[in-house]
Amino acid sequence: MRSVDDALDRILQTVRRLEPRALRLADLCGLVLAENIVAAEDLPPVANSAMDGYAVVAADTNGAAPGTPRALKITDTISAGCSPDRALMARCAARIMTGAPLPEGADAIVRVEHTVSGDDGAVAIQQAVSAGRDVRPAGEDVRCGEMVLKRGTVLRPAEIAMLAALGCPSASVFPHPRVGIVTTGNELVDPGAHVPPGHVRDSNRYSLAAQVVSSGGRVCFSRRASDEMGAIEEALSDSSGADLILTSGGVSVGDFDLVTDGIARVGRIHFSKVAIRPGKPLVFGEIRGTPIFGLPGNPVSSMVAFEVFVRPTLDQMRGMPPPPRFMGRLAKSVEHKAGRRSYLRARAFAENGAAVVHPVSAQGTGQISSLVQANALAVIPEDRDRMESGELVEIVPLWPRGSEPEAFQAV
Ligand code: AMP
Ligand code: MG
Repeated sequence: MRSVDDALDRILQTVRRLEPRALRLADLCGLVLAENIVAAEDLPPVANSAMDGYAVVAADTNGAAPGTPRALKITDTISAGCSPDRALMARCAARIMTGAPLPEGADAIVRVEHTVSGDDGAVAIQQAVSAGRDVRPAGEDVRCGEMVLKRGTVLRPAEIAMLAALGCPSASVFPHPRVGIVTTGNELVDPGAHVPPGHVRDSNRYSLAAQVVSSGGRVCFSRRASDEMGAIEEALSDSSGADLILTSGGVSVGDFDLVTDGIARVGRIHFSKVAIRPGKPLVFGEIRGTPIFGLPGNPVSSMVAFEVFVRPTLDQMRGMPPPPRFMGRLAKSVEHKAGRRSYLRARAFAENGAAVVHPVSAQGTGQISSLVQANALAVIPEDRDRMESGELVEIVPLWPRGSEPEAFQAV
């Protein structure tokens, strides 16, 4: 049986990163940039006002204060979106709105609240300003020629704002992997349906879809097959359009566990069985070049196997760097059956500044509640038969990447 590390190595050597594609701004959030972005212009392109007020020659405001206002003649009104067509003369002021370009000759803004405008076409300036006050100079944000975003950057709203502001209607990114899901089992019914005796609701169909979406993928099909070879083959035979296929159930040693054979019939198996607990029957193969994971049917096994094997695979496909690893101190001792690496459902949190890991009490592979309580998986090495309270353990976080409590330092 392969170790978890060997299995993951084999998987990541087999699976390719997706080809970059140009996508529109509206579709970029969460994707990884596949090109460097160099600013083709200054941002802002021209000097403009940071405030509503008056554009002035700063020197004309010398000595201005509420008791000693300086009167300037209003010669223009400049709103955002227009381009001033005349220069500002000495001892004059132009009414100006936030974002409007500065007229030539002006070098500062007096905010409207520091002025009193009369009905004589003049404005009384009540505050002295120095040159540059409340002016956003051209290129203040970004200089033409500057590298603003590097290949490999995860595009958040801020990066999308930058692309839009610099005039990039699209960008080259690694696209969302398209994932097909096939759940198997004669006993499965839809969550909204009547549950006849001996049946269970198909929860994996939805947990897997949610895991796919939360790891940056998109579900391109979701099917259910009965425990019959014909049905399994049919569900697997048309996987066109998928970058990755996930099946659930039917990979164990029961009489009706036909998925491993089904994958072998329409594609091929790279390996099956991994020294992991839960999730031992995991299968990895491919169907006409599309990688496929045969995940075990128990709801917890399916979700854990996804976190350990599928999420890193999707990360690689979409150009993400490998996930960071974290350590924490076990809050209680753990008895362990050596031979397989165990992933215990756990709560990891900061206690007095230290990263603490509490395995939850329920650990059964059918107990979805164990994962509902958990925010991490505690990794118990395969060669240990016991771990002591206070020992450092690796954890696989179940929280979104980048949102770890401060106490959890990547190792
Ligand atoms: P299997 O791996 O097919 O032998 O299934 C193992 C256990 O997981 C059985 O108790 C199944 O009823 C349960 N199971 C299998 N598939 C699902 C599913 N899609 N949703 C919920 N439970 C499932
Ligand atoms: Mg089954």
